Amino acid sequence: MLRDHTALITGATSGIGLGIAQAFAAAGCRIAINGIATPQEADLLVSRLQRETDVLFHPADLADPKQCVALIEAAETRFGAVDILINNAGVQYVAPVEEFPPDRWDAILAINLSAAFHTIRAVLPGMQKRGWGRIINIASTHGLVASIHKAAYVAAKHGLVGLTKVVALENAMRGITCNAICPGFVLTPLVEQQIDDRARQSGATNEEATRELLRERQPTEKFTTVEDIAALAIFLCSPAAANITGASLPIDGAWTAQ
Ligand code: NAD
Repeated sequence: MLRDHTALITGATSGIGLGIAQAFAAAGCRIAINGIATPQEADLLVSRLQRETDVLFHPADLADPKQCVALIEAAETRFGAVDILINNAGVQYVAPVEEFPPDRWDAILAINLSAAFHTIRAVLPGMQKRGWGRIINIASTHGLVASIHKAAYVAAKHGLVGLTKVVALENAMRGITCNAICPGFVLTPLVEQQIDDRARQSGATNEEATRELLRERQPTEKFTTVEDIAALAIFLCSPAAANITGASLPIDGAWTAQ
């Protein structure tokens, strides 16, 4: 199904993005990947993924709009087209609003929200010309509900869900779908950091802090896995999902059912 397609995945050097890149590569899709990595780390990653498919790595810093556009252009130049765009790169910072550093606010809005606007804006003309495209934004349960101390992240993810709906509406008749995946907690470096902070603050062990985090939010008390999210992304690119567009799909162990 994905063999004659190219997918571009941002933030694919770690966590969810890396899992999505591995799944699309295993499905035979050509992939362009991006993220923060040393040249050695990037080479290693590319050589591993290249066992499955053609791979391009581009080190764009997505906080910079010009580099977002350069990323799309590099992938289009290498592969001729970007058929599937997965906006996944994201960062987190936790503090009460009155203590939230303005530079962290700006960085989170730039990477978690504005980068998706810039990549979508650059990729759409090609998709519209070809009459087919799939855009998947990795949002979060925090695109649907809020938590304390995550002002920038919650604002950015709610914004990303809104952007998803507008792109879906504007392209509804053009063979292009745009959806958001809204994961609950997934055990990646982004969440490991929050667990470490919790354990440090409460004096609990990491295991206790993990249990407490899940019990508070995720009724199944299980992490969503990177593989679950990758499988949903692949489904959203399948013919069966052609009429799913403008949706924000939770994969969150019933977090947002409460
Ligand atoms: P992660 O920290 O493991 O990976 C983040 C990726 O983004 C890395 O590849 C990193 O290099 C890249 N990145 C960060 N800043 C960048 C920049 N300026 N330019 C280019 N790349 C940059 O995090 P993750 O948990 O895999 O998160 C991936 C996405 O999933 C994020 O958007 C996050 O908000 C979302 N998400 C994560 C969880 C979770 O529980 N882990 C839950 C819901 C949503």
